[in-house]
Amino acid sequence: MEVQFDTRCIHGDPDTALREEHRAISYPIYQTASFSHLKPGHNESGFDYTRESNPTRSRLEQVVSALEGAAGSIAFSSGMAAISAVFSLFAPGDHILCSEDLYGGVTRLHTLISRKNGLAVDCVDTTDLTALSSAIRPETRAIYLETPSNPMMKITDLRAAARLARRHGLLLIVDNTFLSPCFQNPLALGADLVVHSGSKFLSGHNDTISGFLCARDPALLEKLRLLSKTTGATLAPFDSWLVLRGIKTLSVRMERQQESAGVIARWLCGHPRVREVYYVGLPEHPGHAVNAAQARGFGSMISFHTDSRATALRLLEHVKLITFAESLGGTESLITYPMLQTHPDVPEALRLRLGITETLLRFSVGLEHVDDIIADLRQALEADHDL
Ligand SMILES: *Cc1c(COP(=O)(O)O)cnc(C)c1O
Repeated sequence: MEVQFDTRCIHGDPDTALREEHRAISYPIYQTASFSHLKPGHNESGFDYTRESNPTRSRLEQVVSALEGAAGSIAFSSGMAAISAVFSLFAPGDHILCSEDLYGGVTRLHTLISRKNGLAVDCVDTTDLTALSSAIRPETRAIYLETPSNPMMKITDLRAAARLARRHGLLLIVDNTFLSPCFQNPLALGADLVVHSGSKFLSGHNDTISGFLCARDPALLEKLRLLSKTTGATLAPFDSWLVLRGIKTLSVRMERQQESAGVIARWLCGHPRVREVYYVGLPEHPGHAVNAAQARGFGSMISFHTDSRATALRLLEHVKLITFAESLGGTESLITYPMLQTHPDVPEALRLRLGITETLLRFSVGLEHVDDIIADLRQALEADHDL
């Protein structure tokens, strides 16, 4: 039965989603380490041991696959665990191209692990397809990117990147955390693999950490599943249940957060203490048209420069409703100082070129009333000032 996205958030694919034998409406938490067998060579339940598979996690993986249009998905204990599994696909000598504006943890992964393991990693501006194309070498195996990117909200043309990847036999891997499957499905645009930090919009309540890989090709999925079983960073049953519950309201949350973000971004543009606003939903954003052509929404992440370091610091100290904290995508509005919190491990020259400076703030719009969010931003921006 073909159903709409909102319905898939609740039921997954109604034809194939794992059913619960007691017909519980909320899928149960199978809090068990292992599963029994009746006789050798028979596995009635299909489950053996929770590191490798668990019904609550399987149900979650089926729901996420239904949202991303994937052949299958794997739930990990964090986004970084999922991303680490991706990079363990490659061998010494392989070359990977990454977007230069990237989640800080991925940059750290390359510095600490990928390079030591013999991978060559180059960061390029993937919004510039000529630059991306000319960075491809004979030993290049994959393009790894975020769109919108973190924290500068740059937009890469996914169809064009997929064409380029196909022409050169590369994997296209897209971190879809910022828009989530609610607004963007990279696999349908030609990507091979989608990465998620499920700690953000998918779970949506700032209460759990998780990660996902969603693949188009079943053979690639099986390779990754074997890696996840081997290294063991799979998602626990209780956390799987929390993410399942969070996803039920994914589209309702994201639509409302986006609506508020549009109003807040406009308001920030008009504030004398704000210099530059990066929100994909603003028509003047350089990636606005490309995003509109490949996604169904603009999301609710806003980055902006204040007029000075002092204003940025004062804002962080004076917010009352909004919380100064890392992370994003949840019910609570969070404001982050990328330079100190998420991107301190990005080399300084690159950080400055990208604009990740001491005046940059990243704001994740939550589900509080938009008027209250703006009132809080106003009092924090104007604290100790005679405006
Ligand atoms: C948070 C985040 C990650 C890392 O995920 P964790 O769940 O924190 O390990 C990766 N990519 C993006 C875009 C993120 O926002």
